[in-house]
Amino acid sequence: MRFDTIIVGGGLAGLSCGIRLSEQGRQCAIVSAGQNALHFSSGSLDLLNVLPDGTAVNRPINALAALSQQAPQHPYSLLGKENVTRWVEEAEGLLQRSGIALFGHANENHLRMTPLGIQKATWLSPPEIPTSPLSGYQRGDKPLIVGIEGFMDFQPQLVVDALLQQGISASTAYLHLPMLDQIRTNLSEFRAVNIARVLDKPEHCQRLADELNQLSGEHDALIFPACFGLDDPDLYKRLAEKLRLPLMILPTLPPSVLGLRMNNLLAKRFQNLGGVIIPGDIVLRTKMEKDKGWLLYTRNHTDIALRAQQVVLASGSFFSKGLVADRGCIREPVFGLDLLAETEREKWVSSGMFSPQPYLQFGVKTDAYLRVMRQGQRVNDVYAIGSVLGGYDPLFQGCGAGVSLVSALAVAEFILARQGAGYEHE
Ligand SMILES: Cc1cc2nc3c(=O)[nH]c(=O)nc-3n(C[C@H](O)[C@H](O)[C@H](O)COP(=O)(O)OP(=O)(O)OC[C@H]3O[C@@H](n4cnc5c(N)ncnc54)[C@H](O)[C@@H]3O)c2cc1C
Repeated sequence: MRFDTIIVGGGLAGLSCGIRLSEQGRQCAIVSAGQNALHFSSGSLDLLNVLPDGTAVNRPINALAALSQQAPQHPYSLLGKENVTRWVEEAEGLLQRSGIALFGHANENHLRMTPLGIQKATWLSPPEIPTSPLSGYQRGDKPLIVGIEGFMDFQPQLVVDALLQQGISASTAYLHLPMLDQIRTNLSEFRAVNIARVLDKPEHCQRLADELNQLSGEHDALIFPACFGLDDPDLYKRLAEKLRLPLMILPTLPPSVLGLRMNNLLAKRFQNLGGVIIPGDIVLRTKMEKDKGWLLYTRNHTDIALRAQQVVLASGSFFSKGLVADRGCIREPVFGLDLLAETEREKWVSSGMFSPQPYLQFGVKTDAYLRVMRQGQRVNDVYAIGSVLGGYDPLFQGCGAGVSLVSALAVAEFILARQGAGYEHE
């Protein structure tokens, strides 16, 4: 099978890059081994929350200049402030075109409520999530946090305790929802995604609304776990219309309905544009043939290679096995690429439990066009995007989704520029 571009990894970065290339008529395939970080995510997307020196960021775009000084290897710094600003706007458009409704803007972060009831800065959030300006929580003084009987992955009391500390008179209640009885008996099956598969059935919407309405009482808002709307993003609106009080939802422990819904919408957009997803397969080795381009051998295609002019490595970090830590070294397993990483094992982790961990900054080394290197030499037609990239800490700096989206759109543009007249970077 021959494609213009093959993307290794179908997470937020790989799917976004594939969509942008397919929108411009490129034939793309995504080979993806398994679940990606979206399956575990909050559904909110971070752009930049904290600078490496610990300064909190309210306005991500304005902070890019300071970031370049403090972290010259950060993907945003490599790509440049003007470009990043443009790709951030493009990313918002791409998500919208994929049918993903999100609240927020890169000019200013907002606060989202976490499943623990605390407020955390972010760039874009699903509109159903309780959000507020950076100045603090504003929606509802007396919210009712509603759990589901037997569901362990969302604990209303934890939310209430945190809200009470913030001066918000929250309280808890539980729904029984008899339609869940069948899966409730098996605790390992009683997870957000399985609950959503039941609650998403059209005949259950009114029943859910009736039970929520019975709880309304003296409260001014309902907060419910994200356990519905997996395949139907409009279910929230239909349910909200039937309720007496405003409804908001909070992410649960993984698997995340909000993250999975985003993943599914991006995959659908990519496939509708003609993109091919090869799921459950893993790229094991690659070979460059002069004049023929790249050959990729996978677990299921060991003899007959997938062929492409360009390869985009979007295989994620340690979590997704895009990077592997062996006893004495960190390696990138598909190409054996050069990395930004400490060689001495003692320097991989920091002893402080809450201090930034050095290994989170490890990843593939690139030039300013996100082209990768092997043994000090540039590898032709191979780019890296997303969390396989080195030079940044997605957790401490709060920039994981932003780097994935920006780097994906950057590489799509670099590849497209090579095909057209505006070929700039050779
Ligand atoms: C648990 C978790 C939760 C997070 N939550 C958030 C959040 O709420 N908000 C936020 O902004 N950021 C969050 N992040 C940061 C996250 O890194 C980025 O937001 C982003 O989703 C990463 O996307 P990615 O496409 O680069 O990598 P990934 O999502 O990790 O996807 C990589 C994919 O590549 C596949 N793969 C790996 N090797 C191969 C191979 N050889 N062949 C084929 N396929 C391969 C993997 O199976 C995986 O599907 C979270 C990260 C983690 C780990």
